[in-house]
Amino acid sequence: MSDKRALEAPFPRKGAASGDDLPTGRTVLIAGGAGFIGSNLSRRLLARGDRVICVDNLETGRTENIAGLLTNPSFAFILHDIIEAFTVHGPVDRIYNLACPASPPKYQRNPLHTLETSFIGALNLLDIAEKKGARILQSSTSEVYGDPDISPQAEDYRGLVNTVGPRACYDEGKRVTETLFYEAHHSSDIDVRIARIFNTYGPRMDPEDGRVVSNFVVQALRGEPLTVYGEGTQTRSFCYVDDMVDGLMALMEADEVEPTIFDPVNLGNPGEFTMLELAELVLELTGSASTLSFHPLPQDDPLQRRPDISRAKALLDWEPKVSLYKGLAPTIAYFREEIAQRQQELGR
Ligand code: NAD
Ligand code: UDP
Repeated sequence: MSDKRALEAPFPRKGAASGDDLPTGRTVLIAGGAGFIGSNLSRRLLARGDRVICVDNLETGRTENIAGLLTNPSFAFILHDIIEAFTVHGPVDRIYNLACPASPPKYQRNPLHTLETSFIGALNLLDIAEKKGARILQSSTSEVYGDPDISPQAEDYRGLVNTVGPRACYDEGKRVTETLFYEAHHSSDIDVRIARIFNTYGPRMDPEDGRVVSNFVVQALRGEPLTVYGEGTQTRSFCYVDDMVDGLMALMEADEVEPTIFDPVNLGNPGEFTMLELAELVLELTGSASTLSFHPLPQDDPLQRRPDISRAKALLDWEPKVSLYKGLAPTIAYFREEIAQRQQELGR
């Protein structure tokens, strides 16, 4: 189609002088590959011999996340907004759609663009999946459950979501995109996967991301008060990023088990913590003397969140291995390094 941008062939063709020693794995397109989860996933896929095409508009992703990959001949970066239709030359075997700001302050900054990214962006990626015969995984979210009135949340729970609140651009964008993927499979036979991701944390999060783990750790390391919203009694379940990447890859590569493998699958750590418990843990592990400061609870902020991961266990033989206590250690070490580096840059 004339309005489509045909992006440059990202890899040398086989047989080309520099292409002979390319690994023989799959070609994987990651939309949102410069973001937190995407850049961790990119590294894992490259390590097992896949080629990665990262398509990202750097809205919330960071060049720091992929800087170390740019010289890898199996990694290609394409600066592109997925709401604009595009294509890539050559074969594509797998597509992970991770493109969408995930932090509430970030996805609320330009709500219409968040909605467009969710729906139109996914439509554009499904088009590529269909043309290339690629399997495609959508990163959905526990936010499809809204402010749930049952706990834990299993996939057959239909959620309690406000269609017109400040979180709706994200929650409803993700919900309708699940429907889009459902129809893409049932009407066009596209091989789809839908991961309902619960709160995930770990190295390569943006220190300015605005989500609770990065906020608390960065505040604790800087000796600033930890900003607790509401009374801090609301709960979340936190999954370490390595576990999440394992889960996403397991879902992507799972054999077809009709009809369930095409249905949404919860991926998250069932451990459930109040924000006060998280704050205490962060203070303990950082050795910080920071105090807590209390702020209003944002509108529609869910009061509880905990995944039922029975489906993931049964279909994928997957469950998280890293406790919050264990996962916070490398996360804190990462943020410590990030802060030191920024201070160094400011001092130059
Ligand atoms: P992130 O903000 O770090 O990464 C998102 C990436 O997508 C960024 O690199 C951003 O620049 C890119 N992007 C955004 N809009 C784009 C567009 N229109 N075109 C091209 N690129 C675009 O977030 P993350 O935590 O890595 O989340 C990745 C995915 O997982 C998101 O889709 C998010 O909704 C989903 N998810 C994450 C969590 C979590 O706790 N991290 C929880 C639930 C769902
Ligand atoms: N939160 C908080 N302090 C912060 C940031 C967030 O207490 O500095 C709370 C927020 O109100 C929510 C929980 O922590 O109840 C998780 O927020 P986050 O933005 O990490 O993710 P989400 O709300 O999307 O689950």
